[in-house]
Amino acid sequence: MFTNKKIFVLGMARSGYEVCKVLSKYDNEILITDMKEQNEEHVKDLEKLGVKFIQTDNPINMLDSSYDYVVKNPGIRYDHPLILKANELGIKVVNEVEVAYHFLPKDTFIIAITGSNGKTTTTTLCYEFIKSMGRRVHLAGNIGYPLSSVVNDIKSGDVLVIEISAQQLHDMYDFNADVSILTNLTPVHIDFFGDYENYISHKLKIFMNNNRSNIAVINKGNGDSINITKSINSNIIYFSSHVNTDACLKDNAIYYKGERIINLSDIKIKGNHNYENIMCAIIATKQLGIDNETIKKVLQAFGGVEHRIEFVGKFNDVEFYNDSKATNVKSTEIALNAFKTPVILLLGGLDRGHSFDDLKDDLKYVKYILSFGQTKDRIKSFASENGIECSVFETLKDATNYACKISKKGDTILLSPACASWDQYDCFEQRGDEFKKIVSKYYNN
Ligand code: ADP
Repeated sequence: MFTNKKIFVLGMARSGYEVCKVLSKYDNEILITDMKEQNEEHVKDLEKLGVKFIQTDNPINMLDSSYDYVVKNPGIRYDHPLILKANELGIKVVNEVEVAYHFLPKDTFIIAITGSNGKTTTTTLCYEFIKSMGRRVHLAGNIGYPLSSVVNDIKSGDVLVIEISAQQLHDMYDFNADVSILTNLTPVHIDFFGDYENYISHKLKIFMNNNRSNIAVINKGNGDSINITKSINSNIIYFSSHVNTDACLKDNAIYYKGERIINLSDIKIKGNHNYENIMCAIIATKQLGIDNETIKKVLQAFGGVEHRIEFVGKFNDVEFYNDSKATNVKSTEIALNAFKTPVILLLGGLDRGHSFDDLKDDLKYVKYILSFGQTKDRIKSFASENGIECSVFETLKDATNYACKISKKGDTILLSPACASWDQYDCFEQRGDEFKKIVSKYYNN
């Protein structure tokens, strides 16, 4: 399919670079454009492979009907002028995952994960489970490794675990997975998709090529997930942390098809949302024959994905959790519901004018709020209105040091800021790294 063709790659970054490397092996004539300057080494690598790179913010006149395909970076909107022109000319627009999929060994066992929340955690868990089973497994997709960068390492019979975003699903046609997981659906990315209906119709595409031999893993407690998957052709297996179904919670344990798989006390990561992510990974890997001992071994050690309610360490019976990825109130609500012991909460960051009121029903275990960043004073008012003591700091560093000073045995110090990081950091990862660096002084002592 992608052999001996003329291909226009729109957008370079990592995935454009990797897909060009793959395509160049199959006698394709390739032009890649990007509006930004690119890594010099990468440009040179591609030139050596015969790929032409042009830096331009106006590539539209470079596309004509002689091209067979446009490969679009998922971050580029589908109403980009070049994509509209490709549509007019009848040129198929695909993405990097769709291209690389065609070069996989046909018997690769594929587990694909999509959904509004929990994708990265579920993807990582699937990968860790399979690795512990001793199977050859590869991690790819939205999690940071383009499929094109791993496709050449995948051998017949290997397992591929791939995280897929709604943006990526837009330009998929033939992709099909043995197990497709839809973690849940909530209204996100509306700016990209225009409306919620359009967004969820993209998510549904993960099942579009399924038949009864393919498993669909669906959240029984999420109305939208159930509704949109009513007529898919897959073999559906349900999970839920609050409805009795194929994989569910019972007697403080996770059950799958009536079998007790693991006690919650043997699981390090917390919260019903994480138990749901675990259920998804159990359903997927049971298809490969994982045993309960392997599941237990992984979950006793797995402290979560970096920056997502990540267990950082313990000092003097005080636990530290980094949830810097919580850049909105909804995520902080989820984090607060994961704790049943006293919490000192670090809250603050970029001020988008958003209200913190939705947190008020989740403050049961919060004994102290320490606010920082642009939103610090508004958070102070919110805390006073809800009768919670709050101290205001300019920076996360000062707030964290103070949290360590006032904490008592049994407390949890939680960074779950409910705000984006851009007032003081380049990204949430940088903020989480700083938090971890500060607290490491304490628990390494
Ligand atoms: P994604 O990759 O979809 O962004 P992550 O696994 O990175 O998801 O988790 C991001 C945040 O989403 C977590 O910090 C947590 O607040 C929330 N979250 C994780 N799993 C779930 C879930 N199953 N349901 C609801 N929220 C979740």
